[in-house]
Amino acid sequence: MTLVLPALTWRSSPNYSSRYGQRVRLIVIHDCEGSFGGSVSWFAMAVSQVSAHIVLSADGLQAIQMVAWANKAWHACNFNPFSEGVEAAGYSALGLGAAEWAALAAIVAFRLHVNGIPCQRANAANNWTGYCEHVELGVAGGGHHDITDDPSKQAAFDALVRAAFAQDMPATWGMAAIPAMVPSASAGWKPIGTVRHDLAPPSLEWAQMRLNALGVPVVPLTVDGLDGRNTQNAVVRFQQSRGLYVDGDIGPDTIKALEAAS
Ligand SMILES: [Zn+2]
Repeated sequence: MTLVLPALTWRSSPNYSSRYGQRVRLIVIHDCEGSFGGSVSWFAMAVSQVSAHIVLSADGLQAIQMVAWANKAWHACNFNPFSEGVEAAGYSALGLGAAEWAALAAIVAFRLHVNGIPCQRANAANNWTGYCEHVELGVAGGGHHDITDDPSKQAAFDALVRAAFAQDMPATWGMAAIPAMVPSASAGWKPIGTVRHDLAPPSLEWAQMRLNALGVPVVPLTVDGLDGRNTQNAVVRFQQSRGLYVDGDIGPDTIKALEAAS
């Protein structure tokens, strides 16, 4: 069986620099703490001063390359010169879905293969050779906590990477002919900045998380900051259940009720 990789498209980030000759020996995986479209928009802006080689969609079907492999992306501080960065759309607190973990494992396995890196967790003892999560890099990697430090989830990911690494590798990971749909800022996506900035009230992402936590929507909402029909329906249900004025909008009274509800 040949390894299946997500459809790949390109969108440039200005946030990159030279590796100054350092060889890649590490693949660092992250989660975006934001949506796919929002994160791609953010990495595409010079003001963000962050980037990754690859951003993966939450359904695991689409990937966008933003920095050429030969260049250094800005994702893990001191580790950038010799690493590749892969950002998975979503939030550490919510966890990633099975399809996204599997696609992430496929990407990691393929890039280990291309770079001739052994299939192993990287750590200080092996001179950071292999793959790891951002959290494992500690303070030198920027002190972030993504994706998970849950040993059982990490072990499950290791098994996925090993299985992917054992498959036949495609010759290349070519760019898809048809560009992926990346909602623009004007379509309602917004750039996501510092960690979990967008999860604070009264953002729409926060409201979506609260509605999910309260079990209001029958099917949990995608936390994407988009005021779509499912989100509006959930707001209506919540407003009805609390005797609020029912308009489907997340106004001050609804925010207050969402904060107070348990
Ligand atoms: Zn990270």
